[in-house]
Formats: sequence, C-alpha cells, structure tokens
Amino acid sequence: IGKKLYLGMDFGTSGARYSLIDGEGTIHAEGKREYPLYMPINLVKHAFKRDEIVLFTRKKEEKMDWIQSWKDTLFLLLDDVPISLREVVASIAIDGTSATTIIIDSRSEEPLSRAFLYNESCPDALPLVKSIAPAKHTVCSGSSTLCKLVSWWNSYPSSKESAVLLHQADWLLWLLHGKLGVSDYNNALKVGYDPEMDSYPPWLLSQPYSHLLPSVQDPGTKIGCMKEDIRTQFGYPKDCLICTGTTDSIAAFLAARATQPGKAVTSLGSTLAIKLLSSRRVEDARFGVYSHRLDDKWLVGGASNTGGAVLRHLFTDEQLEKLSEQINPFETSPLDYYPLQAVGERFPVADPKMEPRLHPRPESDVEYLHGILESIARIEAKGYKLLKDLGATPVEEVITSGGGSKNQKWIKIRERVLGLPVCKADQTEAAYGAALLAMKGACENATSD
Ligand code: ADP
Repeated sequence: IGKKLYLGMDFGTSGARYSLIDGEGTIHAEGKREYPLYMPINLVKHAFKRDEIVLFTRKKEEKMDWIQSWKDTLFLLLDDVPISLREVVASIAIDGTSATTIIIDSRSEEPLSRAFLYNESCPDALPLVKSIAPAKHTVCSGSSTLCKLVSWWNSYPSSKESAVLLHQADWLLWLLHGKLGVSDYNNALKVGYDPEMDSYPPWLLSQPYSHLLPSVQDPGTKIGCMKEDIRTQFGYPKDCLICTGTTDSIAAFLAARATQPGKAVTSLGSTLAIKLLSSRRVEDARFGVYSHRLDDKWLVGGASNTGGAVLRHLFTDEQLEKLSEQINPFETSPLDYYPLQAVGERFPVADPKMEPRLHPRPESDVEYLHGILESIARIEAKGYKLLKDLGATPVEEVITSGGGSKNQKWIKIRERVLGLPVCKADQTEAAYGAALLAMKGACENATSD
C-alpha cells in the first residue's frame, strides 16, 4: 500500500476510541474500548465485607486505578488497529478529558499520586490559587488543573524536585514517545498557560511548583518517533511520529472540519453547546464564555442548560421522530418557551434563578414539540448573537452534532430562525479530530524536512 494513514485516539469520559484515516479524511478503521475497572489490591480484599462494598461503590471513581486502566486501554487500541494497516501509520495523536491530571516522578517514571479526574474538585487549593491568579481566570475553579497541582503540592510529604505534571493526553502520548514533560496549549489552558502570549504567565512561573509545568506546543506538533520496543511489539513503522494532542471537546470540534472563521458547531445533546471559530479572542466569565486557541484563530464557546434532556423527559426518541415528521418547519410557532431541566441558566442569559418555561401546553403534541424545538432554536440564535456582541466573528454557517442533529425538521426550523445554512456534521467523533491532528503533525514534518 502506498497510502499513508493517520491514527487518532480519544480518551473520553466513559471509554476510548480510535480512528484511522487517510490524507483525504476517509476512515480506514475505527473501534472502541470501555475502560477496564480496576480496584487497587487493598480494596479488593475489603470489598467482600458488606459496608466496605457500599463505601467502595460511593468512592469508586476516586479509588479506581485509572492510570493502569488508561494504559491498558492504550495498548489494546494499538492492538485493535488491523495488522495490515499498522505499517502505513505515519503518525498518532491523542485527545483526553480536559483537566485530568497525572503527576509522575521523572527519575522512576512512576506516578506520584493517583490520577485527578477532570470533574474532581480540590476546594482546599482554591483560596491560594485565587490569591495568585488574576480575578475570574480559568484556573479559579476547584476542578482546574492548577487547583489539582496546588492541592497535591501542599499535601505530598516527600521530595518533589523531580515531579512532572502531565495531562491525561500528554501522559498517554509520553508512554508512546518517551520524552517527558510535553503538552499542548489546549490542555495547558486550565493549568494557567497563556495561549495569547504563548507562555506561562509570570505569576505562575514565580510559584515554588513551577518546575512541574510541562513545555507547551501547538496541538498536532511532532514530538518524536514511537518508542522502539512498542513499535516492534505491535508492528508500527520505524518513522511513526507521535504528535501533541488536545482536549476531547476540541477534538470533537475539529472532527466537524469547521476551519474558517464564522463557521460554528452546535452540539444538540442533553444540553446545547455552541462553538464558533473566530479571528478574535472573546472571554466573559458572567456567561461562561471563553476561547481556546486554534493556530492563529480562536475557538469561542458557550453552553446553555437547554437542550435534549428536556425532550427526553417529555417524549421517547421514537415519539420525537414520529411527531417531528408532522411538523411544518416553514411555519413560525407562536409558542415561546424556555426549556430547562432545572432552575438556572448561564448562557446566553446569565440568570441562576431562571425558571423553566414550558407552558401553555397545547392539546396537539405536534404543536407542543414544534414550539419546544423552535424555542431552543431561538436560544441558539441568541447565543450566536451574544458571541458577536462580545466581539467574535459573526457566524456564517452552522454544523450540528449530537442526538438532535439527526432531526431534519429541526434543521429546517433552525435555518429559518438563525437565517443561516445549517447542516449535520459528517464526522463528530473526537478520535477523528485527533486523527486530523496526527495528519497535521505528519504533514508539517514532511514540509519542514
Ligand atoms: P449527550 O449529550 O447525553 O451525549 P446525545 O448527543 O446522545 O446526548 O443526544 C441525546 C439527546 O438527543 C436526547 O436528550 C434526546 O432527547 C435527543 N434526541 C434524540 N432523538 C431526537 C430527535 N429525533 N429529535 C430531537 N432530539 C432528539
């Protein structure tokens, strides 16, 4: 085979996937694995006592040996790639959950703590972090990578000179390339990296733990070749490049291939999340709006609490399909709702006390659903308007992912309400976005050599 292939892996919240693509973006192989659930040995012994089982279930997430589980999953995925295709894999990139943190010892190469998960909070570190960081900075949240680092630093009893902080994706990539302490500016945002200055800020560099911070590259940059022992064990080629990755939500955005400013991706899952590629950086903590850097552009995001969760509460997916068929999407619905699962909204209206509004309910379920879908479309339109008002590039085209994206009638309603072309994304898997980063790394390497 003369063709080169690019391998992307996504380590998401519930499992890991891989996607193997060629230079045109065609998928040659893909697959997924659930994370194996490992209890540390001392807990296995205890778990046979009844109250320990309860304790274990409650504390399961924290006590799980995630580090071993992710490592095993990485090698299972490498082994899932069809043998005949492995020899033409030119490069590999990996995305992981944002703010999932691992601290390891650079001498022994062993973890110095268990993994801190993306959603885990370290409130003990918050006062200190708030005292050093600028007000409302991304790191001023208990679950930020910096809070995890500070919490570990203040509680770890032994020598910390040779410790290195890695994000989940950095750590998995390191297992493949072996150069310690490399990250990308998407993963490093929540530890405090400034993607605009392209460096860690002085207030962070002056801290006693600053030597733990990894060096930072653009996502999709060549780090090195795959370690020889791994390459020969699995049959990957000698020059197989390992490239920096990104976070799982950015990888999912990349998958949709919205590459020009003004292009956006609306995710219609349980909630409504919008991401717009912009020439300008936009931040507003009131609305939870912030920007990730993507090369010379910015990925501006906002997330509303409205979305499919409300629909699922009212209708089954089957009912949603049947009722939607009967909607005339070119007709304006007079019903004005604000569908929410619980009290409170942040974007595009910052109001922690906002009440869900789903009344009056008409007799016809078709009319009711039409009203809800149209109301969510109005919230989406308001979201894009807010990003524009905050200074982002105006939206020109909307690509859609998530469970709601298969609803053609909703797409027509949204085209009318947004006044823009709307389409369903061809690719939405984060692993596909990671494969595009691998391709970027291999192509840049080819032109620079
Ligand atoms: P999650 O954010 O949980 O990953 P998904 O992307 O899987 O969500 O989307 C699930 C949501 O899609 C559900 O809340 C469901 O109500 C909604 N959904 C499923 N089918 C349809 C449909 N035909 N039209 C509109 N929404 C739908």
